Amino acid sequence: MPNSQRLRRGLMLIVSSPSGAGKTSLCRRLMADHPDLDLSISVTTRSARPGEKDGREYHFISEDAMNGLVKDDALLEWAAVHDHRYGSPREPVENALSKGQNVLFDIDWQGAQRISAKAPSDVVRVFILPPSMEELKRRLYARAQDADDVIQRRLSRAKGEIAHWAEYDYVILNDDFDRSYAELVHIYHSETARRSRGLWIAPFVDELMGEEI
Ligand code: GDP
Ligand code: ADP
Ligand code: 5GP
Repeated sequence: MPNSQRLRRGLMLIVSSPSGAGKTSLCRRLMADHPDLDLSISVTTRSARPGEKDGREYHFISEDAMNGLVKDDALLEWAAVHDHRYGSPREPVENALSKGQNVLFDIDWQGAQRISAKAPSDVVRVFILPPSMEELKRRLYARAQDADDVIQRRLSRAKGEIAHWAEYDYVILNDDFDRSYAELVHIYHSETARRSRGLWIAPFVDELMGEEI
């Protein structure tokens, strides 16, 4: 049976961590290696960092535009994070899932809770932990993309994010990047292979059983 006929149920892979733990780096690599995975590009009211491009990392929008999206119920979830609002546009996610594509979300614990509550059997949640608070701080400064006061605020909220680790299905300690990435790939592959996602399996087994030997 060609792969194109193997009808699947798409999954939503949610990755969360405190700022600086490495989720964006891990997600970017996973996206690059897996064409069957769509990134949910969030809307945000924060401004773009150096190097960020509107429509690639985020859709950078005004407070008014955010109010409009919330009012129109155009977001699958939204949350206030680090003094700004972030939300996941509903339509691209629903389109992707209906075609059996998987969707990757780089969102915080509030978004993870909200999406899980709506579609528990289609969600896989992964939490990324830093090896130490000292290393988290070093990475935020090494990334050199946020002002000192922004970094301080992100650090002061890190423990609030980490406090939600037990709500996730998997936890990766991001010490060595390549090892952490290998763990993420294993999780993704195992979860996509679950029997419940393969809508093609039952009819295929019926066909197999109907064949003369
Ligand atoms: P980062 O944490 O350094 O990657 O900084 P960002 O400014 O890119 O993201 C800040 C936080 O907002 C992170 O915890 C993200 O996971 C979270 N976030 C981004 N997009 C969304 C979204 O659409 N919904 C929710 N709930 N959280 C989001
Ligand atoms: P987040 O999206 O969680 O805020 P990033 O992916 O932007 O985190 O990572 C923060 C910084 O730490 C980046 O400069 C990134 O290159 C670096 N980094 C990520 N993972 C590791 C790792 N395992 N070891 C060392 N540095 C890392
Ligand atoms: P920055 O320079 O802000 O850290 O990140 C920009 C990078 O995003 C680009 O260099 C690009 O490689 C990376 N990127 C690669 N693939 C994707 C993708 O599918 N979605 C998003 N949002 N970014 C991607």
